[in-house]
Amino acid sequence: VEPIMELIDIRKQYGSGVLSRKHAVRAVDGISLTIKPGETLGLVGESGCGKSTVGQIAARLLEPSDGNLHYKGQTLAGHKGAKRLRQQIQYVFQDPYTSLNPSHTIGKTLEQPLIINRLGGDSKGRKRLVKEMLSKIGLDDWHADSYPHQLSGGQRQRVGIARALMLNPEFIVLDEPVSALDVSVQAQILNLLKELQQELSLTYLFISHDLNVVHYMSDRVAVMYLGQIVELADVQQLYERPLHPYTQALVSAIPAESRHTKRERIVLHGELPSASERMSGCAFRTRCHHAHERCAAEQPSLAELEPGHWVRCHLHSLA
Ligand code: SF4
Ligand code: MG
Repeated sequence: VEPIMELIDIRKQYGSGVLSRKHAVRAVDGISLTIKPGETLGLVGESGCGKSTVGQIAARLLEPSDGNLHYKGQTLAGHKGAKRLRQQIQYVFQDPYTSLNPSHTIGKTLEQPLIINRLGGDSKGRKRLVKEMLSKIGLDDWHADSYPHQLSGGQRQRVGIARALMLNPEFIVLDEPVSALDVSVQAQILNLLKELQQELSLTYLFISHDLNVVHYMSDRVAVMYLGQIVELADVQQLYERPLHPYTQALVSAIPAESRHTKRERIVLHGELPSASERMSGCAFRTRCHHAHERCAAEQPSLAELEPGHWVRCHLHSLA
């Protein structure tokens, strides 16, 4: 199957002007990912690891400093004219409180992408599409006349999802879509996302720091640490047999009652190096229980240990 989205050696630095080069922060440090049509690829890691930056680059909200994006085989980086393709890629923000304009009704918020892109015909046609969308995401007609502050957090995130769907996208980046919501509401939104994926043949890049949520949603999972992917595998493989010491620690920290295998909790000690430090060797070595001489000297590369299971660690290197 041809991938729907391909990230090829994507890099992003902040503050990389001549004067500040020494302090340049490498948010994303050479990420390559292929996302298959219809799947959910989970992207997991601690806050600050660069996962939102990857999502924003995939959704074309941010330009990468380096690297390429292919969408259905076509280059997207710098491809300003690819308006039709860009409509097929949408982004759902973490915080439905701040991502909706408080002075616009829900109807106006949902109508706007249609107006901007000259879709949906006249005002009557657009209002019909808005109504259809409201029912699709589980709200009533009259919500079109409501303002964001009149809705609950869960309802607001439904509107955030609806807005992303107005242009009939095929690929959606979901950036921590439930982490601002009460736990009791999270499952409803996750299930809605799953239903919409089935009904509309959507492909998701699902970003979260919550391993349980990622387990529930994903077909494959990529684990990020300091701007790099350290492990990538099918969801079951990754949770049952994590190979990278970082993934092992993350999986072991899942509360026992929802754990996927029995294992001892691995507590990480040591400093998290700042993203502006240029470190030799493995970026995880300051916190790794298995760090050895080679880890300081040589950066491990991402190697495919078994079909579809990639790991960046000298313990598992083939060479
Ligand atoms: Fe740990 Fe070394 Fe593997 Fe890095 S390469 S994760 S420091 S064992
Ligand atoms: Mg984030």
